[in-house]
Amino acid sequence: MTETLAAIDAPTLPQTRHLATSIPGPRSAALHEQRVQQVSSGFGMTLPVFVNRADGGIIEDVDGNRLIDFASGIAVTSLGAANRRVAERVAKQLEDFTHTCFMVTEYESLTQVCGWLNQHTPGDFEKRTALFSTGAEAVENAVKIARAATGRANVLVFDEAYHGRSLLTMGMTAKVNPYKLNFGPMPEHIVRAASANPLRPAAGAATVEAVLASVEQTLVEHGPQSFAAMVIEPIQGEGGFVVPMAGFIPGLRKLADKHGIVLVIDEIQTGMGRTGKLFASEHEGVAGDLILTAKALANGVPLSAVTGRKELMNAPHAGGLGGTYAGNPLACEAALAVFEQFEDGALLENAQLIERVAREILEPLVRQTSVVAEVRGRGAMLAIEFADAGSLAPRPDVAAAVSKACHGAGVLTLTCGTHGNVLRLLPPLVIGEELLRDGLGVLAQQIRSAAS
Ligand SMILES: *Cc1c(COP(=O)(O)O)cnc(C)c1O
Repeated sequence: MTETLAAIDAPTLPQTRHLATSIPGPRSAALHEQRVQQVSSGFGMTLPVFVNRADGGIIEDVDGNRLIDFASGIAVTSLGAANRRVAERVAKQLEDFTHTCFMVTEYESLTQVCGWLNQHTPGDFEKRTALFSTGAEAVENAVKIARAATGRANVLVFDEAYHGRSLLTMGMTAKVNPYKLNFGPMPEHIVRAASANPLRPAAGAATVEAVLASVEQTLVEHGPQSFAAMVIEPIQGEGGFVVPMAGFIPGLRKLADKHGIVLVIDEIQTGMGRTGKLFASEHEGVAGDLILTAKALANGVPLSAVTGRKELMNAPHAGGLGGTYAGNPLACEAALAVFEQFEDGALLENAQLIERVAREILEPLVRQTSVVAEVRGRGAMLAIEFADAGSLAPRPDVAAAVSKACHGAGVLTLTCGTHGNVLRLLPPLVIGEELLRDGLGVLAQQIRSAAS
């Protein structure tokens, strides 16, 4: 699995799980005490472990434990958290200059990043790209661009959607707790439609045709001409790694065309090879009018992008888009290093192999236990949904218990989902097969004991 990848980027840390202390260890516990004294408690945390170094599929903590990384900093460090080529390009840029502000004076790397995205994102039409720093900023700017281009106000979003935590994007996000609780009033002109969750379909919408009819009904009730944009994740991320019913995204494409609505595909989590293709919308054979990337785009240096049809991207007036750090030169160099490493296709093959290995180990649990409802996802974006067999009653308690037991055994896992009952796997695309099998073995074992 890693023959080609090892040549690209041999990780500097030993790629084995190792427990030196209990998790968290004493040094992490002491640092966490200090954190509580200084840091806003508004920030949650999955595991109170402090990191010393991280690379490949391993996170080494300050107590000398080596954890298997099934999180990648939430789908960000796909090429390993200390990727050598990223580090080299960023280090060189640090010596030359760290910042000029692209709105003040220009630098070539930003043009190159935009050019790569214009060329590699789905859609055989002329494109332009605008760079920002965070995913939420990309979402907000896509809405600004769609409004400027159409002269319309409303934005259609979907059940179980996640688009960020800023004021506009938390309004677009579906789940109240933790994202919206006590933070209202919510922004106006956001309308929510049914999503196409195959395991848990909306009432009266068990087929893709019925869901699409319900979406169109929502458009009609508000007046289709009032909608600037519809924004969809090709696989819903925080909402539970929901792969939509086949035909749903192509159906949205048709609805958008019919009513002159800008189709915005939020690939912030699914993009950059995560699902085994460069962009998850390729699995659907659909090109958005605008496509959003962030997270893995620069392997951890903050960078996000809106890429899309030239006429849309050029609709805002000059000076209407921007940001002090938008397309920062360090981030652009990191992105160029990421692009180079996608050239030979090995990373995409690795994402596909991760899916095959994970399904081989995890799918038998659906039959063997009464709490695993489904193993789903694409490539290296996979999830296990815990629910009682038959009734499908969500089991967030099992997801939490399994995740906690994995942490104790040295495997970093995350949960997600509207009901908090989904355990998600986002290993770095460069994880070695042996390490992957070790981590999945621990996970399967913990699920078996939680189920018994
Ligand atoms: C993470 C995420 C965002 C928000 O990105 P930030 O960088 O956290 O602002 C938006 N959309 C999707 C699908 C995401 O996964």
